[in-house]
Amino acid sequence: MSTLPLVLNAIAEEQAVIELPVQSGPAALPVPNPTKSLWVDTPGANPLGKEGSTGALTHDADICIIGSGITGVSAAYHISRLLLEEGVDGKDLKITILEARDFCSGATGRNGGHLTPAFFQGVVGYSALYGTEEAVRAIALEQHTSSSIVKLIKKTGAEAAVDLVEGGHTTLLFTEPEVVVAKADYAAAKAAGINVDSVKFLSKDEVKETYGAEYPAIHAPGHNLWPLKLVTHLYNLTKDTLGSKLTLHTNTPVTAITPILATSDSSRRWNLTTPRGPVACSYVLHATNAYASHLLPHMHGPSGIIPTRGQIIALRAAASLDNITKSSWDGNDGFEYWFPRPLAGDETEPLVILGGGRESTKPKFELYTVDDASVNPVVGDTLRRFLPAAFPGKYEPGREPEMEWTGIMGYTKTHDPFVGPVIDPAQPDAHKGQYIAAGYTGHGMPRAYGCAEAVAGIIVADIAGKQYTVPDWLPRHYLTQNRLHE
Ligand SMILES: Cc1cc2nc3c(=O)[nH]c(=O)nc-3n(C[C@H](O)[C@H](O)[C@H](O)COP(=O)(O)OP(=O)(O)OC[C@H]3O[C@@H](n4cnc5c(N)ncnc54)[C@H](O)[C@@H]3O)c2cc1C
Repeated sequence: MSTLPLVLNAIAEEQAVIELPVQSGPAALPVPNPTKSLWVDTPGANPLGKEGSTGALTHDADICIIGSGITGVSAAYHISRLLLEEGVDGKDLKITILEARDFCSGATGRNGGHLTPAFFQGVVGYSALYGTEEAVRAIALEQHTSSSIVKLIKKTGAEAAVDLVEGGHTTLLFTEPEVVVAKADYAAAKAAGINVDSVKFLSKDEVKETYGAEYPAIHAPGHNLWPLKLVTHLYNLTKDTLGSKLTLHTNTPVTAITPILATSDSSRRWNLTTPRGPVACSYVLHATNAYASHLLPHMHGPSGIIPTRGQIIALRAAASLDNITKSSWDGNDGFEYWFPRPLAGDETEPLVILGGGRESTKPKFELYTVDDASVNPVVGDTLRRFLPAAFPGKYEPGREPEMEWTGIMGYTKTHDPFVGPVIDPAQPDAHKGQYIAAGYTGHGMPRAYGCAEAVAGIIVADIAGKQYTVPDWLPRHYLTQNRLHE
């Protein structure tokens, strides 16, 4: 068996570093000129890239959404849908999305492309921290989110437009502790009544025969796609509903949010400062993920959201797609994740998108890093050596990647996002009308669309003067009002 070029079993050490108190200040704004990602920088891939970056700025809106990643755009989509469904007279409500850089050029435009919900993972830990009911909801949220996205893509005939691939997902278990944790989570999930029928444990021999790697594994349903194209599709669906009531201003960073005095003539609550002028609004949604603490300084550090840099390479395999299979993968407690892109044009060997390698930088783990304009050579070296070592013969040792980029994830101490009204424990009423859905800890694709649905529901209920009913599938420990002790 090849020796893997990885630091193994580093998850506990990373958690200890996440929980360390920090003295550094809030996150900076997204840096200009980020590294080029396959998703954003393939010619023609980002038709909304510079949308609304020049010309007149929208100076007044009912709802301002800050951030045009999957959270911000999904929230706009859900708000427009819920206004109709709830019968709220929303025909005149104006929504504007403000984005610091090009459209969807944050984590969603720079990630690993997996849409992989948990089936049983983490159930032991969630049960110990929050009880079995919450553990069941943590799985339900991911299942709800992923199946809703896939249903919407299929219903709107967008499978080809977003490169949806139903390839399944395989988790390689490199070490005995990983096997022990997986088996315990699986047993706990089953005991809690979670349906794990589609999950299969594979022996080392089965994995070797089917995939060519010599480790035991777990196989479960899963998809991969082109995340930016999904978000573009969601934006276009929302635009079809809202027309001119939806505006998007890219390259328009929000640098400050200040209250509008009740004594002023304006009926709005908040004034957003941008280099292009002010925007007044009644509701603000922070869909800024890793960067949330820039505008919400109380959310910096381990009690809030820690910007954490992830790195990806696009590496050409040395075997056919049939040989590699269409499965997406992860291993080493999720530090590494990869999947083969569908073949394009006359390609015979797939381009494999591989992320990870942060554990090679321990004890830093790339935590508190907002610079996605550069790559880390130590991480890059780990990524280059990993696949040829794990799958001998299927990847050429020493082959250089065709692209390499970084992106910034939003880590939280509990690994779970904050969803709901913004609450600063030191001044609980200071942010009335501001909401947040952020902090997915590198696992946002099967959670953000669902969390955006929840926060959209909370905002629409407030507009309608109704009580929000928390859906069964939303973990209560995600809600901001339940996280004031963190
Ligand atoms: C390298 C990498 C690999 C990943 N791989 C996966 C994966 O395979 N599967 C998975 O499930 N998840 C993965 N993730 C995580 C996933 O991409 C994120 O959880 C998800 O995209 C978060 O979406 P978002 O819309 O909340 O944040 P983002 O997509 O980051 O969007 C936030 C936006 O807000 C903008 N913004 C920030 N501050 C301001 C401001 N003040 N004014 C205006 N705009 C602002 C940013 O420019 C950005 O565009 C990965 C992330 C990275 C970085």
